[in-house]
Amino acid sequence: MSRIAYVNGQYVPHGEAAVHIEDRGYQFADGVYEVIPIVNGKMIGEQGHMDRLWRSMDELQMDAPMAPGPMKIVMREVLRQNKVETGLIYIQVTRGVAPRDHPFPLDAVPSLVMTAKKTSMDAADAKADKGVSVITTPDIRWNRCDIKSVALLPNVLAKQAAKEQGAYEAFQYDADGNITEGSSTNAWIVDQDGTLITRPTSNSILAGITRAELLDLLEKEGIKVELRAFSKDELMNAREVFLTSSSSYVQPVVEVDGKVIGNGKPGSISSNLRGIFKSYMQN
Ligand code: PMP
Repeated sequence: MSRIAYVNGQYVPHGEAAVHIEDRGYQFADGVYEVIPIVNGKMIGEQGHMDRLWRSMDELQMDAPMAPGPMKIVMREVLRQNKVETGLIYIQVTRGVAPRDHPFPLDAVPSLVMTAKKTSMDAADAKADKGVSVITTPDIRWNRCDIKSVALLPNVLAKQAAKEQGAYEAFQYDADGNITEGSSTNAWIVDQDGTLITRPTSNSILAGITRAELLDLLEKEGIKVELRAFSKDELMNAREVFLTSSSSYVQPVVEVDGKVIGNGKPGSISSNLRGIFKSYMQN
């Protein structure tokens, strides 16, 4: 079956989907995006993703291409046409097409593009059963990492460095030596006393929807979390490490910069939280 993309009002074959060369997303990375997981036909955290998309647009003084209601209808149509039961939907909004000039154009119409792809829960489970390795790398991003902008070059470089070292993700650290987040994930540790720690939201990280959903679930379970920055040292000496994102859900980490965490197998708390998160998604 051929994939279908939505581009500015039309459903087109994925291979033919295109925007103009003077789209400001292409020329200035003047755009924002969302990735929403779908599990067994259900969108996970849809409202959180929609709210974050609107917040990103507001922070960049970007007009919305359509109201949230119609956008949700297009999202469902993209999923239907691509027959996605479990997978991801990608939504991108840019400031639109205009002659190249840095200030906001006066009359550009925002561009809206959506794609969807299938993913496999079995493949995700296999990865979680084994655990992944991460590297650490300096955070060279800008001061507004809370905006989910398509300007992802520092994230691309971080992920590439991870890949070259055979790792799944790169955890970035700030000038104080504290971990901010992964290149496309939020970072968590469990310290030697069994306390869960993750960085509070601020301009230095993206407020992950998976992170927020897991925090809600933890509260319901009565499990305490310390919201504070943790150092690279604490990361290396943690009892457990895991990451969260829309595409990884809760993913145990078993190695950091070549150092084995715990006994090199996914920790019991991380694995338990993955289970809790999976049943939240599947019910
Ligand atoms: N941080 C960054 C930099 C990301 O790109 C992502 C993925 N969107 C996340 C964290 C995780 O966010 P979410 O749980 O909403 O996917």
